[in-house]
Amino acid sequence: MVLADLGARLHGALSQLSKASVVDDKVIDALLKELCAALLESDVNVKLVSQLRTKVKTKVKKNLEEAEKTGGREANKKNVVQKAVFDELVALVDPGTEPYKPIKGKTNVLMAVGIQGAGKTTTCTKLAVHYQRRGLRTCLVCADTFRAGAFDQLKQNATKAKIPFYGSYTETDPVAIAALGVEKFRKERFDVIIVDTSGRHKQESELFEEMVAISAAVKPVRRPLGGRCSLQDMTIMVLDASIGQAAEAQSRAFKDSADFGAIIVTKLDGHAKGGGAISAVAATKTPIIFLGTGEHLNDLERFAPQPFISKLLGMGDMQGLVEHMQDMARANPERQKEMAKKLEQGKFSIRDWREQLGNIMGMGSLSKIASMIPGMPAGMLDGGEEEASAKLKRMIFITDAMRQDELDSDGLIFVSFDKSGNPTGLNRRAKRVARGSGTSVREVEELLAQARMMAGMARQAGGQNGLMSAMQKMQ
Ligand code: GDP
Repeated sequence: MVLADLGARLHGALSQLSKASVVDDKVIDALLKELCAALLESDVNVKLVSQLRTKVKTKVKKNLEEAEKTGGREANKKNVVQKAVFDELVALVDPGTEPYKPIKGKTNVLMAVGIQGAGKTTTCTKLAVHYQRRGLRTCLVCADTFRAGAFDQLKQNATKAKIPFYGSYTETDPVAIAALGVEKFRKERFDVIIVDTSGRHKQESELFEEMVAISAAVKPVRRPLGGRCSLQDMTIMVLDASIGQAAEAQSRAFKDSADFGAIIVTKLDGHAKGGGAISAVAATKTPIIFLGTGEHLNDLERFAPQPFISKLLGMGDMQGLVEHMQDMARANPERQKEMAKKLEQGKFSIRDWREQLGNIMGMGSLSKIASMIPGMPAGMLDGGEEEASAKLKRMIFITDAMRQDELDSDGLIFVSFDKSGNPTGLNRRAKRVARGSGTSVREVEELLAQARMMAGMARQAGGQNGLMSAMQKMQ
């Protein structure tokens, strides 16, 4: 999982709070001390950490006073503190700006810039795969004429991912290649044209000069969309997470030289300093659109502040999970139709959840996907692939022990109700399933809660005109 160490420490600090019998200043101070230490270790800027501490304290004080007026019990106090911490962690990584989203049916030219070695070429192909999966016709242009082998690398990646590409072994002017490639693909009516530029410059100013020259050559078209993202064509800066909080200087320079664009932070899988890089970029109010989380084509995660923090704290990322499911459904058009219908009708049974778990098992990189499922504590995923796989298998065993009518249900069949219709706990069916699957009632309860959340997401997607709008929202 991305920033697993930071996640485990934050999660640990919040668990201490949950366990505390009384929430007083001492407990809150201890929590904040641990949170701040963890953030500083992840290279988050001292000033940002100290601001977070003050903001959490002020918010907690204000909200506790209000809660006390309404007879605030300990559990309430804990919620107040947890919510304040969660909100301020989200604020720490929130650039507060919406990134541009490519639109189907238009020519969207995306230009990747960045210092050599930041992961540009790799990221370009990952991006192409991402958009292609979402039904946008996508292609790649290699304008990196400086690095020997750059075109071969892009060609190899593009071929593997079945993405059309353009490049030249003889042309040495990156601006000319970009112009020719974009022109060719524009005529062929591609939706997304991704241009990989050369990252030969160590100096940012020179990098930006090249960026401006290429962007002039590919003729970005402005359209009156309103708001900040009014550019049809967009420049994306690719930043290596290992530079930690130094990312602030790079993203500020980027923003100052061109007031449009977005950032992708790469190599978050390998660097403990990632938290510093993300918060530093967010502080400059430049939108972060994706995170690079590995060397493979699928190792790209959409970045959104709230799901990111939620996942970091072991609370899952339901939206990300739905997105993965949709990717898988797209690979199987027949299944996609069925799934789309279900989502439109807001229907989602335990059987559907079982199918998704099965798909997840077959997707590789289990620990990454598993971290999107709520109730998978960070500690449990520390063991990596093996432990994630074992946990997912236990979830499948639970569904294997269910009867047909139970699988087809929404899970309420496992709940007892009192005379007034209020739930009173799990019934004998749940105990039978736990026994039959060799798991615990608690695990059955977790699985039911997850299926319920998925059903909630399905209803939400259904309520907004079904799958299509849900998919567009997630692109
Ligand atoms: P460029 O010079 O900016 O085009 O960088 P490349 O795309 O050639 O990437 C440089 C190295 O970083 C390669 O070995 C990539 O496999 C690796 N890389 C790129 N993105 C990631 C990432 O998100 N995680 C990890 N671990 N490695 C990455």
